[in-house]
Amino acid sequence: MVTTRFAPSPTGRLHLGHAASAILAHDYARERGGRFLLRIEDIDGTRSRPEHVATIVEDLTWLGLTWDAPIVFQSQRLDRYAAALDRLREMGLLYRCYCTRAEIAEAMSAPHGAVAVYPGTCRHAGERDAPHCWRLDMAAAVARTGPLTWRDHGRAVVADPQAQGDVVLARKDAPASYHLAVTVDDAAQGVTDVVRGRDLFEATHIHRLLQALLDLRVPDYHHHALLTGPDGERLAKRHGAPTLAAMRAAGEDGAALAARLRAIGTASCRT
Ligand code: GLU
Repeated sequence: MVTTRFAPSPTGRLHLGHAASAILAHDYARERGGRFLLRIEDIDGTRSRPEHVATIVEDLTWLGLTWDAPIVFQSQRLDRYAAALDRLREMGLLYRCYCTRAEIAEAMSAPHGAVAVYPGTCRHAGERDAPHCWRLDMAAAVARTGPLTWRDHGRAVVADPQAQGDVVLARKDAPASYHLAVTVDDAAQGVTDVVRGRDLFEATHIHRLLQALLDLRVPDYHHHALLTGPDGERLAKRHGAPTLAAMRAAGEDGAALAARLRAIGTASCRT
């Protein structure tokens, strides 16, 4: 059955861009007699706030959206991510990275040509008793899977995870990274179609690689254009862009707003 999801991180209030994305994912499932799920991506314990979860639920309900299963919270699924990490570790694809942010910034701006990705400083650093994150040995991972493709709006895309280097899969302060958790959960929840903003297009290369390594089902992707303000700037990045909560508090009608987004905003998000 067609299954989509909306997966916000409760690190702040939702705005119009989130509303458009949630409506697209919701309608994609509803138009096909499928399921729409809500997942709260709260693995980042330092930035996630429970009060934002309550607001997200109120916002989506105000927009007239409904979901078909109890809300899934990533913070309650850490054992799943740990198991996936164990598998990757057993394959010899993870290494400990002890670098601080400052060290990484310095290594990436080295005089012999600045690099855009982590230069692999700790790839052979071994084991020592110090705070560390876990990085994917990208070259080894890609060698193991061979070439991969995924589908965006039905068109084949050649996966290019190498461009992002040895990405972090478990952080010093969080037991899993976004990449790992989202990949594990989309598969576990039976998500068939990932409808999300184009800002996550590049991340999909990593997700596709993790699916291949962990033998997970590959959903179809539908990355949509991001809503922009009159000046062309992304709404998500605009300072002072009105939040859904503020519109709700001002007495706006959520169903009418959803109808407007469907008619104008989300139509332009479909490609
Ligand atoms: N939690 C992510 C965010 O709020 C979105 C995850 C996804 O849709 O894959 O940006």
